[in-house]
Amino acid sequence: MKTIITDFEYLPATTIKEALKLLSQHKEDDYKIIAGGQSLNTAMKHRLLTPEYVIDIKSLSDLDYIRFDAKEGLKIGSLTTHRSIEKSPFIREKFSVLHEMEQNVASVETRNWGTIVGDLCNADPAADPAPVFIALDAKMKIASSSGERTVDAEDFALDFFETTVQPGEMVTEIQVPTLPPNTGVKFEKYSQMLGDYALASTAVLITLDKKREMCTNARIGLGGVASTPIRAKKAEEILKGKKITDALLAEAALVASEETSPVSGIEGSAEYKKEVALTLVKRVGKEALEKARKA
Ligand SMILES: Cc1cc2nc3c(=O)[nH]c(=O)nc-3n(C[C@H](O)[C@H](O)[C@H](O)COP(=O)(O)OP(=O)(O)OC[C@H]3O[C@@H](n4cnc5c(N)ncnc54)[C@H](O)[C@@H]3O)c2cc1C
Repeated sequence: MKTIITDFEYLPATTIKEALKLLSQHKEDDYKIIAGGQSLNTAMKHRLLTPEYVIDIKSLSDLDYIRFDAKEGLKIGSLTTHRSIEKSPFIREKFSVLHEMEQNVASVETRNWGTIVGDLCNADPAADPAPVFIALDAKMKIASSSGERTVDAEDFALDFFETTVQPGEMVTEIQVPTLPPNTGVKFEKYSQMLGDYALASTAVLITLDKKREMCTNARIGLGGVASTPIRAKKAEEILKGKKITDALLAEAALVASEETSPVSGIEGSAEYKKEVALTLVKRVGKEALEKARKA
């Protein structure tokens, strides 16, 4: 009888060192890392991926953490599940945008077992975490047996389902800088069903000056509207150094939507996705501004 998943050799790792050693033994891309398997199993069942080896890192409990230090910021280990982030009282208080984002990622079952880093490494451009980490100016720490490197969240995805992670490497941590005072960050996704992938999504970070009048920093991440999650840099420039009004937000939203390059699909046409992105940037930008005023 023909199996659904093609045969593979299962290689479980129990320590980070062991995982890196296993990865180093497979320089050619003949393997896949498995964490929670929520995306990988689906891809293998459909034979979109047919790895010869599957290296299981789910037991690396040393990489399951949420830590914070005012100087170094927030650090999320790569085996941290969506659900741990959603349920963390610290995240809810200090990085509430992550809590809000997590509430609508898939179902509780998927969030219980799936990792946030697995979601980022799967590199579906419509997934939720990337726009948020782009807005938060996060970095991804990537390790191999020969050392470590960090990559800005905005440079992590290279194309549909492709990242900067090379054979022999694995992501070990997400690093998020401490939010400056008077900063508000909001995220919203638009999808046809609750908990579904986004048709378009937006995260906006706004920092105001001491008087809470002028915008000193703005960062805008967008999902579902290009082959990777993107940062709308031109739109950010429109907001920086100015007093944000509804008219300025509308101008920035129009520019952000021009920075997108969506493809048409069954969920909507490219033109429609651009319109949704425009609406989201305007709305989420306003909410981020309100949050910054109260921060
Ligand atoms: C029904 C369903 C609905 C979903 N809806 C949403 C949604 O609305 N929004 C959303 O954002 N996501 C959604 N997802 C995606 C879900 O969030 C991911 O499947 C999950 O987070 C992946 O994590 P995992 O630990 O299971 O990764 P796995 O499936 O084990 O791995 C995913 C990919 O990442 C690679 N990988 C994993 N960990 C590492 C690492 N540390 N270093 C390098 N590569 C690694 C694997 O090789 C694989 O290519 C949905 C998934 C399902 C099944």
